[in-house]
Amino acid sequence: MRILIFGPNGSGKGTQSANLVKKYDLAHVESGGIFRENIGGGTPLGKEAKAYIDRGDLVPDSITIPMILDRLSRPDCQGGWILDGFPRNPAQAEALIESLEAKNMPLDVVIVIELAREVCKERLLGRRSCPNGHPNNLAIEVIKPKGSGDQLTCWKCDADLTARKDDVDAEAIDKRLDIYFDGENGTLGSVDVMEKWVAQRDGARFVRVNGAGSIEEVREHMFAGFNQ
Ligand code: AMP
Repeated sequence: MRILIFGPNGSGKGTQSANLVKKYDLAHVESGGIFRENIGGGTPLGKEAKAYIDRGDLVPDSITIPMILDRLSRPDCQGGWILDGFPRNPAQAEALIESLEAKNMPLDVVIVIELAREVCKERLLGRRSCPNGHPNNLAIEVIKPKGSGDQLTCWKCDADLTARKDDVDAEAIDKRLDIYFDGENGTLGSVDVMEKWVAQRDGARFVRVNGAGSIEEVREHMFAGFNQ
C-alpha cells in the first residue's frame, strides 16, 4: 500500500498517518520529522534546514526532493509507505510523479484532510510534543495536557511536554498556512497536480476528508473513503 496524505498544518494529519502506519504496517515518511531528526542529530542537512524551518519557510527543493526520493527507495519502504508533508509545491509533485513513473510504482490512495485555516492556527498554537509520541493540544479537550503555563505534562503518560519553535511563533504559523493554502505555487497547487495524475490512472483513489471532527470521526471517514 502506498499512500499520500495532505492536510494543513494542525489538521491532525500526523495523528491520522500514525493510524494508517499501524493498520497497514507502513513506513512513515514524514518530511518535517526527517528534518527535525537531522536538526536534533546536528547533521549538515539539519544545520542547513534549521533556519528555514524556524521561520516557517519551505526548505529549498534542491535539498528536500532528493532527500525524500532517497528515503522512499530504502529497504523499509519496499513493503509500502505513507508520505506525509511532501509534496508541498507543484515542482515537488512533478518530481514525485516522475520518480513513481520511472519505478512503475502507482499510488493506492491520496488523502486530503480539509480544515478551515482559523481552526488550524488555533490548534497549532495549542500543540505540544510528548516524548512518547502522544498527541497533546491545549485547543482540543480530549487530548488537553495537564498543568498550566510552562509546566505542562502529557494527558496520557505524564511526561513533560515541549512546544515546537515554529508552533509558538504566530508569524511562522501564518507563513506555513500561507504556503499550504496557496492553490497555485503552494501545497494546494501540488494537490491539484496529484489529483490530475491519479485521475488518469486505474485503481488509485482520491479521498477528501473533513478534518473538523474528533480524531475517531476523522479516522472513520478516512477508512470509509478507502472502501468506497
Ligand atoms: P511539518 O512538521 O510538516 O510542519 O514541517 C516542518 C517544517 O519542515 C516546514 O515548515 C518546512 O520548513 C519543512 N518542510 C517539511 N516538509 C517540507 C517540504 N515538502 N518541502 C520543504 N520544506 C518542508
